[in-house]
Amino acid sequence: MLELLWLPLVVGPESHGRQRPDRGMSGRQAGAMSTRYRAFANPPASRLICEGSALPGRAGTTNRMRVFDNGSRPHLVVFDLDGTLYPRERYVDLVLDVISRGLVELSGATSDAARSRVAVLRAMMEENWDDTSTTTFMIAEGVNAAKWRDFRTQHLDIASGLTPDDRVVGHVAHLRRHVPVALLTNNTRALADQILQKIGFPDDAFDGVIGAEDLGLGFKPSPAAFQAVVDRLGVPARNTWGIGDRYDIDVAPLAALGGAGVIVSGPTEIGGAVRFLIDRSVDVLDRQS
Ligand SMILES: [Mg+2]
Repeated sequence: MLELLWLPLVVGPESHGRQRPDRGMSGRQAGAMSTRYRAFANPPASRLICEGSALPGRAGTTNRMRVFDNGSRPHLVVFDLDGTLYPRERYVDLVLDVISRGLVELSGATSDAARSRVAVLRAMMEENWDDTSTTTFMIAEGVNAAKWRDFRTQHLDIASGLTPDDRVVGHVAHLRRHVPVALLTNNTRALADQILQKIGFPDDAFDGVIGAEDLGLGFKPSPAAFQAVVDRLGVPARNTWGIGDRYDIDVAPLAALGGAGVIVSGPTEIGGAVRFLIDRSVDVLDRQS
């Protein structure tokens, strides 16, 4: 099996192509030179994490986009929804409230026990967002995955708390002029459509929207979820790139199929990820062909 080569690359979300510290360098070279690298102590041991610095003049916005590169030219980009196309802060409190109710109604926990478990989950999220999955948590609590999906769909009303985000809509549309785009979410398609509509996406903003109904038990973080997407869109997994807020959910399962991805901390970094992938999509050479 082809050994993946994780190349550290970073592109500043707002400065790429505008400010070049050295006119003799490309934006990408300059960005890479100013990047701080550190190796992850935990698996996957071979990956390197790139971290940028805070963007001057943009309070609360950091450039922490992380690129997990397999050298391929993108033929498809698969977006995550929650915490990626809208801020995770809009999601966490609402989903924790629904989880608390779900523990009581689906697994018979007392209210006190449910609150206690939710406090543990919140602490896990704060400690390690990358490795905390609400779906996995509920299954570990003994809740049937399908019942949790239905309960979550019935009670989780993320859309009502969202406001339009013309920038993120524009970034996705810009990317789609170069590369097909899909949305992959563990939400039902109906819930995803409500959320996309509130953000301001037109109905046909994605070449495919793959939701819970399409995934069965093969939901993220199963690689089967990404296999369903690449099968639907008819592209090689190796040329498929994920964009999401969670490495373990949005990139690792795709990397297991040979793909690659970019991790962002939220919608403010989508522009940087899009610029990186457009640059890559027009590269003459597919770097591993
Ligand atoms: Mg997410």
